[in-house]
Amino acid sequence: MILPGSVVGIVGGGQLARMSALAARAMGYRVAVADPDPDCPAAPVADRVVAASLADPDAVAPLADVADVITYEFENIDPAVLERLASRRPVHPRVEILRTCQNRIHEKRAMERLGIPVATWRPLESPADLEAALAAVGLPAVLKTATMGYDGKGQAVVRTPAEARAAYARLSGHAAAEGGRPLVLEGLVPFACELSVVVARSASGQVAAFPVAENIHELNILAYSIVPARVSPATQAAARDLAVRIAEGLGLVGLLGVEMFCLPDGSLLVNELAPRPHNSGHFTQNACATSQFEQHIRAVCDLPLGAVDLLSPVCMVNVMGEDFPLAPAAALADPRVHLHLYGKREARPHRKMGHMNVLGLTADEALERARAAKAAIRGEQPLTGSSAGLS
Ligand code: AMP
Repeated sequence: MILPGSVVGIVGGGQLARMSALAARAMGYRVAVADPDPDCPAAPVADRVVAASLADPDAVAPLADVADVITYEFENIDPAVLERLASRRPVHPRVEILRTCQNRIHEKRAMERLGIPVATWRPLESPADLEAALAAVGLPAVLKTATMGYDGKGQAVVRTPAEARAAYARLSGHAAAEGGRPLVLEGLVPFACELSVVVARSASGQVAAFPVAENIHELNILAYSIVPARVSPATQAAARDLAVRIAEGLGLVGLLGVEMFCLPDGSLLVNELAPRPHNSGHFTQNACATSQFEQHIRAVCDLPLGAVDLLSPVCMVNVMGEDFPLAPAAALADPRVHLHLYGKREARPHRKMGHMNVLGLTADEALERARAAKAAIRGEQPLTGSSAGLS
């Protein structure tokens, strides 16, 4: 057990590190982050920043000099960097889990080994695999790069064999001199909605899955997470159960975000895993007994996990670069809006700059208020009535 007073090290200094660091500090831990940018979002709330290229194991190694336990806040880290750290300090989640989540082929195989349902898929290691994969998966389908894809980057929906061949050439780069990148072909899932569950597991084996979020994407980037998800209690229970089975099956220590598709009949397919706090879990900060960030720290430090009860329906809405300049006071005119900004200096389009957790009496009402808060913070539609909804 790593007790308060110890130093939690975080590889990566973005918003997930910032919010994890704030939670750690509230519990009396000290925090060191490694990031190439000394001005990264976590820097103002960390005790120490190790300025390091995250591609360079030697540069990141000093984090192990100062930290008692180490975690990370994003997936695209060279595993060699974490292996070096893990030779000196506990690193959670363990590097093997990161490797699994970094590659869709490994990830899907791991799910299949655990008996977790996924969409029909085939790996594409070379152009020769495409025709057989199309026959097995059918059309329409989605082609995705096996690695380095996020927020819909590195993927294409294909509806005809000709489209599939063109997308294969583009995404795999197989015409390029360095040879092709592996891809996966998966069936286009006619989902009714997208769900996610953040699950925590401690080294002692305690597991807790947060309430299920229903996610709405805009331009392939998460825009809204609605909780409770507007699916049946049985589907919610099944989603949490899947997340727990994955956490236990992988031997997770830390947090895992599990993204799923919910089909019209309520059945679930797991799409993707992220071994870290998850954007769709931000609602926990204002609507759960324990936030995902506090849970992250408890899990990696092997403290008992906190309660995951939902205290209020809530909708999380992301604040993006294109929303700037912000009108924060306009959004906060609704007293049930809680604003979280990441302190990023430059507001670029599609960059996540912050989020709002908007409480409501029901999930639908929270979504409605979140849409109004989003319009208000963009300066589009000031909310009226300073006590809107407060009784
Ligand atoms: P991903 O990068 O795998 O999380 O995909 C980004 C988004 O694309 C998902 O949240 C879905 O909205 C959509 N998507 C990805 N894969 C599929 C699929 N097989 N069928 C339908 N939609 C998908």
